[in-house]
Order: sequence, then C-alpha cells, then structure tokens
Amino acid sequence: MADPYGFLKHPRQDAKKRPVADRAADWHEVYLDPGAEARDQQVRTQAARCMDCGIPFCHSGSAGCPLGNLVPEWNDLVRRGDWELASDRLHATNNFPEFTGRLCPAPCEAACVLSISHDAGGPVAIKRVEQAIADVSWEQGLVRPARAHVPSGRKVAVVGSGPAGLAAAQQLTRAGHEVTVFERDDRLGGLLRYGIPEFKMEKKVLDRRLAQLRNEGTRFVTGCEVGVDVTVEQLRERFDAVVLAVGALRGRDDRTTPGRDLDGVHLAMDHLVPANRACEGDGAPAIDAAGRHVVVIGGGDTGADCYGTAVRQGAASVVQLDQYPTPPAKRDDERSPWPVWPWVLRTYPAHEEAGERRFAVAVEEFVGDEAGHVRQIKLRKVRVERDASGRRVVVPVTEEVELLPADLVLLAIGFEGVEHMPLLDGLGLRLTSRGTISCGSDWQTQAPGVFVCGDAHRGASLVVWAIAEGRSVANAVDTYLTGSSDLPSPVIPN
Ligand code: SF4
Repeated sequence: MADPYGFLKHPRQDAKKRPVADRAADWHEVYLDPGAEARDQQVRTQAARCMDCGIPFCHSGSAGCPLGNLVPEWNDLVRRGDWELASDRLHATNNFPEFTGRLCPAPCEAACVLSISHDAGGPVAIKRVEQAIADVSWEQGLVRPARAHVPSGRKVAVVGSGPAGLAAAQQLTRAGHEVTVFERDDRLGGLLRYGIPEFKMEKKVLDRRLAQLRNEGTRFVTGCEVGVDVTVEQLRERFDAVVLAVGALRGRDDRTTPGRDLDGVHLAMDHLVPANRACEGDGAPAIDAAGRHVVVIGGGDTGADCYGTAVRQGAASVVQLDQYPTPPAKRDDERSPWPVWPWVLRTYPAHEEAGERRFAVAVEEFVGDEAGHVRQIKLRKVRVERDASGRRVVVPVTEEVELLPADLVLLAIGFEGVEHMPLLDGLGLRLTSRGTISCGSDWQTQAPGVFVCGDAHRGASLVVWAIAEGRSVANAVDTYLTGSSDLPSPVIPN
C-alpha cells in the first residue's frame, strides 16, 4: 500500500547530469550513472512519492500515458524494492521502456495529480523510475526472449525499423507469426539510430533490444527499400499482411525566405544523420559544425538535438531561434504553444552546455558571401498572432533588423509527413493533406492487408505514441490473420 503522504516527506529530485565540461566533450549520455546502490535508494525514494491515486491520471486518458503504463503499480513495487515484479509490470504495457525512459517527454508527469499545485512539490519523477526499472531489468538479466509457443504459419512484413515497426514486429512475433522487418538503411532503428543523438540514448541501448527481438525470432533485412529492391508484387506474394511503419521524415523547409539556397543552410536531419553515422564509425560527417557559427531555427526536440550535436562537434557559437515567446512559466499560461511541462521552462540539457536561445524572433533573410555561402542572418523581433481564420501568423513588432553571424544554419521547423517512396505508389496509396497515410478503425489502409502505424499514420510524434501504435496495429494484424487477438491495443487510430 503506497504512503499517501510520501510526497510530503520526500522532495522531487530529478536525475543528476554529468558536469557540463565532461558531457559536452563526449557523446555519452547526459545523465550521471550514480551506481546501482545509490540509484536503488534514490529511485525508491522518488517512487515513494506516488499516492496510488484512485483515478491515476498518469496512467492513461487524453493527457496521460498512451501505453497505459501501470504507473502506480510499479511505483509501489519499486518503493518496496521488488524490481523483478516492477520489470514484469512495466514490460506488460511497454516493449521498450529503456527508450521511453530516456526519450519521452513524459506526458504522464504532466498529468500526475501532484502537478496540480506548487505545494505538492512537483509530479512524481515517473520517467526516472521507468528508466531505472528498465536499466535494472537489463543489468539483472530480467529481460529475456519471449518466444511464441505455437507458430501461426502466417507471414508479416514490417516496413521500417523505428520504434513503431519494432513494437509491431515484437508483438506479432510473440503471437506466433513469422515477421520480417525491412529497413532501407544499412543499420536498424530508424530515428532511434540516425535521428536521436548518442548523448540522449547510446546505441548500445538499441542494439541489446534488437538482439532480444532476433532471439525471439524476428527477422531483419537491412539495406532494402521495399518497392525498389523488393517489388510490391513480391511483397504481396510472400507475406499475408504488411505493416507500414515508414516514419514521417519529410522535413519542413523554408523556401520563402531569401537566401534559403545558399550553401550552409540545411534541414536538421541533414546534420543529425551524418553526425550519428560518425558516432557509429562511418567517418567524418559531411556537415560538421566544428569552428562554425551555428544557428538552429526551431525550438523543439529536433532543434535541441542539433544544438547539442553542434556543441559536441566544436561549434564556434550556437544560437537557437524561435518565433514564439519564452516558454510559459506556468501551466495555465496560453501565450505559446510549447509542450506544457509543469511550471518549468521547456529546456533541454543541451541548453546548459553552451550557446544561447533567442525567442520571439524570425529570420528575414539568409545573407551570403560572394562564393554563395551563408554568413549572416537578418533577424527581426516578432509576435505570433491568429488571423481571422484562426491561422497562426507572424507579425514583426519592430523596424529594427539585427544581423547574426551564421555560417551553418539548421532548419528544425518540423516535419511534413511521409517521404515520397515508390512503395506507396505501388500499393496505390495516396497521402492525406497532412502528408500521412490514412487508415480505417482497424489500422488497415485502402490496400487490403496493408496496415499503418506510428509517425507514418500520426505525423511526427513522441516515441511513446509510436510504441503504442505499433502495439495496437499488431492486435489489428493478428485479428486480420487469425480472426481474434489477445494482444493489447492501447490506442485507436486518430
Ligand atoms: Fe502516482 Fe501521480 Fe499517478 Fe497519482 S497521478 S498514481 S501520484 S504517479
């Protein structure tokens, strides 16, 4: 039984980060490993803050965890030191808690009852507890392959090996289907591999989970673009069902600002992918921030990833720009559309390492030198308003223009949906106005037997949503192949 007064006895304490000088000089994860004993004691104390609410808003619903993580249950198990059962209960709803524990912005914490008032001391540190359970599970050998006992005789192709594809593949393999994951890149993991920097999640964390999937029987084919290297006809002939988990990697561009075509102005992923490849040992990145004045445009997760990557590459300076004002200091502040985090600014560890953030500014022009390389940015102070139709518009608030040094500009202003790929043409699928692949209430696209999940369906979103959709699509495919399914289905298509 949880202690209902635990939160009054123990202050919230977030995980400690490594000193800035150390972490900015390498690619290892930002957070300090306090050692097993200290972690055990610290995390058990944090878990003891949970009240085991009658209605745990952290656990599900519109604001809580899309996976329906059994948060109060495993908080209490951790409080009591029963890590093995906590691992069991965490893995019951989440295939990859070591990913969400590191990468998810934790909507569960925003939804926690303890975020209601300052006096409560802040929400339970759910994400910290989750990562600790996941890490302890691996360290103590509690994560074991869960092989299916009875093969179904059915074959499923999963296209894409990001978190949605991997979750779908693991669920379907465990249900007895023969699953093959196709990845067009040379290594597995999608955004987890080439989008997320090492300092947020080291790739060994991904690799050990992939080893578990292999041991369970999931097959993987890398360097294979379905629709090109394997034709749609071959795919249809060989597999009874297909899951599209191809992501939404078409980066939003800024073609209207003068100077966009100068050398040195790139989309964020053009920077992040080679930087991650360099960490994998593929040689120097094609776009390197070393010694350059870097300007990151866009204030979200991807922008922060570029920011931290540029710092580690040895940039001469790093500035991140955002059209929106400083993030709200209170959750009821409606001045900006930033993700709401209880009472604190939406900052990332990278912002403590170096550089500067500028809010309520917009780029007027990228200014180049005679050789056609960007050298400066013309900036103007702005505010974001809504026009008569409710659309956001950016309005200058001053005549003054500021010049900012910039010889590497990274556009991190969002994603517009699924990239063009021959596979979609071959299947006869059209994209929605949001650039995503539509589906019915059973996750099935307009192509019979072809299902979609993750960012390809939802648009660029959180890793926790990708896993939740992967689990749900697995239920739908299992039902399609066998007539019913015992697999969980935590979310419905939007
Ligand atoms: Fe515990 Fe917060 Fe969830 Fe309540 S809402 S059960 S206090 S984590």
